[in-house]
Amino acid sequence: MVDLAVIGAGPAGCATAIWAAARGLNVLLVERSQFPRFRPGECLHPGIEVLFRDLGVFDKVLEKSSVRPSTRTVISEGCRSVESFGVDDNGPWQALHVSRADLDAILLTRAQQLGVTLHIHRSRVIPISSNGKIEGVEFDGRIFRCAFVVDASGQGAWLTRSLGRKYLPASPCLTAFYGYCHGHLPEGQLFEASTAGWQWMAQVSADVVNWTSLHFGVHQKPLPPATMSSLSSCGRNGGADVTWRIAPSVAGPSFFITGDAAFVTDPACGNGVLRAVMSGIKAAYNARAILTGQATQAEAAQDYRTWMKHWFEADTAQLTHLYETLRKDWRAPNSLAITQHPAFELKSI
Ligand SMILES: Cc1cc2nc3c(=O)[nH]c(=O)nc-3n(C[C@H](O)[C@H](O)[C@H](O)COP(=O)(O)OP(=O)(O)OC[C@H]3O[C@@H](n4cnc5c(N)ncnc54)[C@H](O)[C@@H]3O)c2cc1C
Repeated sequence: MVDLAVIGAGPAGCATAIWAAARGLNVLLVERSQFPRFRPGECLHPGIEVLFRDLGVFDKVLEKSSVRPSTRTVISEGCRSVESFGVDDNGPWQALHVSRADLDAILLTRAQQLGVTLHIHRSRVIPISSNGKIEGVEFDGRIFRCAFVVDASGQGAWLTRSLGRKYLPASPCLTAFYGYCHGHLPEGQLFEASTAGWQWMAQVSADVVNWTSLHFGVHQKPLPPATMSSLSSCGRNGGADVTWRIAPSVAGPSFFITGDAAFVTDPACGNGVLRAVMSGIKAAYNARAILTGQATQAEAAQDYRTWMKHWFEADTAQLTHLYETLRKDWRAPNSLAITQHPAFELKSI
């Protein structure tokens, strides 16, 4: 019997586990891959600094972050501008560029130092439900009872799929492609948008530049930025389905869904890891509020659903605004209608 069973040990799952374990909860972390496992997305929004400090990992992440831009250069319809991330009394806000393998290792080590038990499983993880609640998980022939299950399985979408539910799409099909080259990008971060889509380049270590591109209606062939063609490629390249979508229920009796498992927007938002970490902390916070009698199950789940819904609506509104300025024919999704759909906010399992 554990307090929390967390499925997936990426940023969302580790943030949940660390926050909960640091406050005395008993946490089981269940992962299907051996680490290091590859994930794109090395550019972390400056807002993540305060969360990493709370989780006790900021200094370690800083050690591994060799590039910290405080601005990004944006080229849209041929016009070039430099945008600052923000500034406060301590100076300009700086992004953290860090390899995902390093970030995963730092988060996982911290979780294990706090007493979190990690299981790498070989068989399918099955949710165990009874009386309309999820009461545990079963895998590799073992059953673990728990007060709460947190789905942090990213695009694996473990719980939503296990319950036979479908994500609610909020955009046309979108595919993002990515790759890496040896080279130097003076701007640190460069975002270039046109009617065809956008491309994003970032210096992710001393001599490696990452590129990510999204071309409307293109799903098969990666289109690296022309400026990258003279550089030698290195590392992985590939594509990912980044159609905007949200799980029909992101919280309910005894479960919370975090990070990409809760919702996906495309990487132009630039906050996927921030959202994963913040939603992981929020899920742990709300679970603890129930366990300590500060909130009822219904209140904590409703609070989490509303919080995630507002974030999804804000991100999709921001992206819609960007794409509508690029293309007159952009089919504007109505994320408000999605989150008011009867299938959204399902409260039971
Ligand atoms: C091309 C591209 C570029 C991106 N660039 C950026 C960027 O620059 N900055 C940024 O902030 N974000 C970026 N993102 C988004 C970011 O990568 C994700 O938002 C982030 O990884 C989500 O974290 P997560 O913990 O929810 O999921 P993940 O990091 O995917 O972790 C989920 C974990 O769950 C495990 N898992 C899955 N199913 C199961 C199961 N059934 N049982 C057990 N374990 C399971 C997986 O093995 C994995 O370890 C990018 C995304 C893409 C596609």
